[in-house]
Amino acid sequence: MRIGFVGLGHMGGPMAANLLKAGHAVTAFDLVQDALDAAKAAGATLAASPRAAVEDAEVVITMLPAAQHVKAVYLSDDGVLAGVAKGVPLVDSSTIDPATAKLIGEAAAKQGNPFADAPVSGGVVGAQAGTLTFMVGADETLFETLRPVLAGMGKNMVRCGETGTGQIAKICNNLLLGISMIGVAEAMKLGETLGIDPVKLASIINTSTGRCWSSDTCNPYPGIVETAPASRGYSGGFGADLMLKDLGLAVDAARSAKQPVFMGALAQQLYQSMSQQGLGGLDFSGIIKLYAKQSGAD
Ligand code: NAD
Repeated sequence: MRIGFVGLGHMGGPMAANLLKAGHAVTAFDLVQDALDAAKAAGATLAASPRAAVEDAEVVITMLPAAQHVKAVYLSDDGVLAGVAKGVPLVDSSTIDPATAKLIGEAAAKQGNPFADAPVSGGVVGAQAGTLTFMVGADETLFETLRPVLAGMGKNMVRCGETGTGQIAKICNNLLLGISMIGVAEAMKLGETLGIDPVKLASIINTSTGRCWSSDTCNPYPGIVETAPASRGYSGGFGADLMLKDLGLAVDAARSAKQPVFMGALAQQLYQSMSQQGLGGLDFSGIIKLYAKQSGAD
């Protein structure tokens, strides 16, 4: 298929490369020259604007940082909706608020383009390996149309419901993940302070009721899980600033819905503190550093 792709960053770059490997033709646009160079080296045709990237497309995929970028890329004069042919399906895989996803979906529907929000889980490693999970907000027909295209970039495609529900699934999952990581960090640090061997404690948690992904796969205590970011200085993985962004989306969506998120709001403040200390580029499991003894403290 001919695919128009906009947003070739940490996630979009490897996703576009995997579409090329799967035999699709990709016409790509990004604001950053290095990202364009990498896409060209992978076999993409380069375009000079989002509009130009999608003019000839049979499917459009966007992978952008946040809602304001998604609005600009879809709704501006040089944007996706200005260039795309009627009927061509549009997919936004950025993590944004459900309300913006619905707004873009309505604007697309007005000119006869079906729109799906399809945020992903799996991180940069999953994007490179083509093993992402897509949480898709789309009707059944659109979901089935998109499935073979998404299969070029991911392993699991889940239809969550109508437009906007993919983003709801994504922000609820990351709300829980952000909170559970803090819980594991707190338990590991308390165990260490009270005098149990952290390896022993982790092995007990991981065969007991406290077990979760944050304890058994991405344990924040260094040396517990060899492949976890904690065992390589918290490099790689999922940046704390991205977790902070996703918790912000969850807290904002909760406020609009008048639904309290007690733990989510507290978690947001803790990642905010991590970011303020200049640690926002570390994997989010680095939140355990907030529990370190401060110099001068008793
Ligand atoms: P990134 O910042 O690396 O890439 C975003 C790209 O979009 C950049 O190359 C940027 O130049 C481009 N861009 C911004 N505005 C543009 C515009 N107007 N026109 C064209 N290009 C534009 O971000 P990323 O890590 O690839 O993440 C993308 C999305 O995926 C985010 O919403 C993020 O929350 C989500 N996500 C990221 C991860 C992760 O581990 N990085 C995991 C899951 C989901």
